[in-house]
Amino acid sequence: MEAEFLDWLHEQLGDTHDVLLGPGDDAAVLRMLATSAIVTTTDLLTEGVDFLLADVAPARIGRKALAVNLSDLAAMAATPVAALVALALLRMRAAELARALFTGMLPLARQYGVAIAGGDTNTWDGGLVISITAIGRVTGHGPLRRDRARPTDHILVTGQLGGSLLGKQFDFAPRVTEALALHGQYDLHAGMDISDGLALDLSRLAAASRCGAAVELDRVPIAAAARQLAELDPSAGTSLEHALGDCEDFELLLTAEPEVADRIVLDQPLPVPVTRIGSMVAEPGLWQRDTDGSLRPLAPRGFQHGD
Ligand SMILES: [Mg+2]
Repeated sequence: MEAEFLDWLHEQLGDTHDVLLGPGDDAAVLRMLATSAIVTTTDLLTEGVDFLLADVAPARIGRKALAVNLSDLAAMAATPVAALVALALLRMRAAELARALFTGMLPLARQYGVAIAGGDTNTWDGGLVISITAIGRVTGHGPLRRDRARPTDHILVTGQLGGSLLGKQFDFAPRVTEALALHGQYDLHAGMDISDGLALDLSRLAAASRCGAAVELDRVPIAAAARQLAELDPSAGTSLEHALGDCEDFELLLTAEPEVADRIVLDQPLPVPVTRIGSMVAEPGLWQRDTDGSLRPLAPRGFQHGD
């Protein structure tokens, strides 16, 4: 299967000017500017944990596997360069599955200029495992880190939050161009992508920055899907709780000093809305700011890896 599959893959791969030597040799050779730092990230998706093949088309799984990596590059405000794809395939359906996974992945790779530089495929009797390593290039503005927020910063999010279970968890657009545009145009202090829920990820950003975060709950942009989920099953929480706690929004969470944040909100420079949801504060922890300005603890919810 390997040789035939590689031939097929070669045909599918478009112009890859950063790849001096692509799939087929022992390793890939990438062109890297000596002055530029690189960013690397890996994500692993496992059948039964992250998806069920019975419920989700393999092309959507392949697309998502690349998209979560691109979201992490976006979170660092890095330009995507290349990806390495490792697959553990079910012996019975190996060739069919591999093609289907790449069929979902390749249009996204083309859209973001990511070269599939190589990888590995194995077959076994277990479930499908797909691991992608993505490589990106830091821009002249440096990487966007989560530990650089300052206690007076305002907090911004892109898009709308919650309810990704209804489809966004597979079909989301990684905010690569959005992150690069904002980081290029404005002085951002800190940022990350929201993968495990706004509240939990914001508490991580605050902890990394050694300060706290206060959310103004009436400002949190609630996705239509979050309202839909709340209506379908009121016992699973309100739409606001979905927006605060649901995983896999893959939106950007950013901080900047108040004047810069206000300008971004006024300019609305992206195709998706940018909303101010609160401020960083000196007191460590996650807080909700009441209308009278007082702070009350807010529980970080969302998905904890290893649960
Ligand atoms: Mg991330």
